[in-house]
Amino acid sequence: MQRFFDTLEAIHQFTRSLDQHAFLCASCKTCGQFVSHGFCHKQHKFAATKTVGKRILCSKRSGRTGCGRTVQLYIASEVPRLHYDTAQLFAFITALLANRSITAAYEKAVGKPEPRHAWRWFKKLTQQLIVYRHYFHRDALTAAAVFHTHSLTRQLLLPTLQTLFSRAHQALNHIANFQKAHQVQFM
Ligand SMILES: [Zn+2]
Repeated sequence: MQRFFDTLEAIHQFTRSLDQHAFLCASCKTCGQFVSHGFCHKQHKFAATKTVGKRILCSKRSGRTGCGRTVQLYIASEVPRLHYDTAQLFAFITALLANRSITAAYEKAVGKPEPRHAWRWFKKLTQQLIVYRHYFHRDALTAAAVFHTHSLTRQLLLPTLQTLFSRAHQALNHIANFQKAHQVQFM
C-alpha cells in the first residue's frame, strides 16, 4: 500500500476510495477493512502544528473484521516523527558531505547546538545504510569515495549519501523524492 504522497489532497482522495481497493493489512492479513481515521498533525520546531498526513484504521467495528491497527499516510516532504522539515535534514546531510563535524553540521542545519540530537540524527542515518545502498549498484560508490575521515561510519555513510543524491536534480527535495519513489521512510 502506498504510504507517501505528493500532497494532502492526494492522501484525502486515496482515503476516500479505500473501499474500492482491497488493501491487505500487514498485521492481520485481512483485506479491505480499512477506513479513514482522521488527519495526523506534527509539532514542528520552527512552525505551528502542521497537518502532515492521515491515519487509516483496519476497522473491527460496523460489520468489519479488521484488527484495529492504524497506518499513517504521509506527505512525502515530511519524515515521520521528525520535528524538523526535510530542508533542515538535507542541510545537515549537505554539511556532513562538506566534511563538517556531526555537531557543527547539525548546528548549521537547525541554527542551534544540540549535540545529543546531532548524534541521534547521525545514528538514524547510519541505521538506514542498507536501505540506501539497496537503491544503487555498489560500483556507483567508488567514484564518490573521496572523504578524508578516520571514522569508519563516516567512510561508509558519506559516499552512500552522496551517491544517493548525485543523480537527483538539484532543485528538487531529495528526501521527499526518495520517500515518494521508494515508499520508504528516509530516516
Ligand atoms: Zn488488520
